Amino acid sequence: MEYTLSVIIISAAVTLVFGFFVGRLLASASYKGKIGALEGELQRHNESFQRVSKDQSKQITSLQNETGDISRMIIMFPDIAEDITSSMTIDDLSATIVKVVKQLLEVEEIAFFVADDGNLLLKTYSGFSKDAAVAMGKIPIGDGRIGWAAKKQIIMFAEDFKTESILIKEQLQQKGTGIRTDVCAPLVHRGKLCGLLAIGKLSKDFRNIKKFLMMITHLSAATMENINLFLEVQHQANIDGLTKLYNITYFHKQLEVELDKAGRFNRNFIVFLFDIDNFKAYNDLNGHPAGDLVLSAIGRLVKENLRTIDVPARYGGEEFIIMLPETSGDAGMQIAERIRKQIEELNLIFPQNMPWGRITISGGISTYPLDGKDPKLLIKAADIAMYSAKRSGKNKIVPHEQVFTQPD
Ligand code: GH3
Ligand code: MG
Ligand code: MG
Repeated sequence: MEYTLSVIIISAAVTLVFGFFVGRLLASASYKGKIGALEGELQRHNESFQRVSKDQSKQITSLQNETGDISRMIIMFPDIAEDITSSMTIDDLSATIVKVVKQLLEVEEIAFFVADDGNLLLKTYSGFSKDAAVAMGKIPIGDGRIGWAAKKQIIMFAEDFKTESILIKEQLQQKGTGIRTDVCAPLVHRGKLCGLLAIGKLSKDFRNIKKFLMMITHLSAATMENINLFLEVQHQANIDGLTKLYNITYFHKQLEVELDKAGRFNRNFIVFLFDIDNFKAYNDLNGHPAGDLVLSAIGRLVKENLRTIDVPARYGGEEFIIMLPETSGDAGMQIAERIRKQIEELNLIFPQNMPWGRITISGGISTYPLDGKDPKLLIKAADIAMYSAKRSGKNKIVPHEQVFTQPD
């Protein structure tokens, strides 16, 4: 009995000890599982934390760069504004814009256009090849990306063109220059297109780039308008109100300039002076306003017959003077004769009151350096030739060299 009790007690003790160890074993296995799971989760959190922190440090770097860019711009802006607004000519302004934008945006390819009569004309470029410059020389407003941004009068980036309709996109491709442009920034002042700035490849992009470009283009457009207004006022100051030809002050200045050029480059030029025949009679018979109409009609006709390098001026009263650069005697005589003939054929009111039933002129021609090497002598020689034409019956052109070789 005692033996049986001992066996039972021992068995119970063994079972308890065994159970205890089995329980411990089981418990430890479940802990391990839990720890493993926790470790996995920790790992995942760690990885995601690293990812977030990497993203954040990227963002911080980009923000730092951006802040750097913006503060660089803020620091430079007073100088940029000064450079742009103090430009006195369109050439100056375009060179400044190209320099400033190149420097700030660190772009290689940049082109500046001026708007002219429905087209954009390439004024200055940098980084683009010569072929590209030729392709971009004259772009009709509305054609290709550059022309389209100019037409819409808004700054357009490459992605902005993607939102255009398929039809427009096809049209832009067909009529484009074939030159890659990432940015087309038109210069607009009070709704008027003045020019456009095109950037080839944009390597640097920052959040406020559009605002920055807007600032530059607005400032440039206003400056461009001021320059044009100034040039217009300056031009008007050189123009005779009635004939719309140059006035004599401007003529004298240009004569000095041409004299200097012709002397240095060994070139000829012509001075052609003419006077309306019997104009006093015309005025007396038909009134001063009718005479004024003749003067303005002659001004128009003269301009139509000349090149842009020629300098036609009203010499005073009913006398006109024209300088024809890089022209020799014979060619000058042909131009003068053409003008004389066309004046004779002018369709005017009251021509019936004139001796020949029409308005005529008498003119004289002098050639540099043959007839004189200074302005006074050249004009004097043309004047002598003109009076020779008057004396010998009017309605003709006489070259100075003939004055003393032909009898009156
Ligand atoms: P000639 O053939 O010798 O040149 O004779 P002319 O009558 O043209 O020359 P004259 O010098 O006697 O007269 C010049 C006239 O030109 C006098 C003036 O009435 C006229 N004239 C000068 N300036 C103007 C102007 O601005 N408008 C008008 N309508 N006439 C002018
Ligand atoms: Mg006269
Ligand atoms: Mg006269």
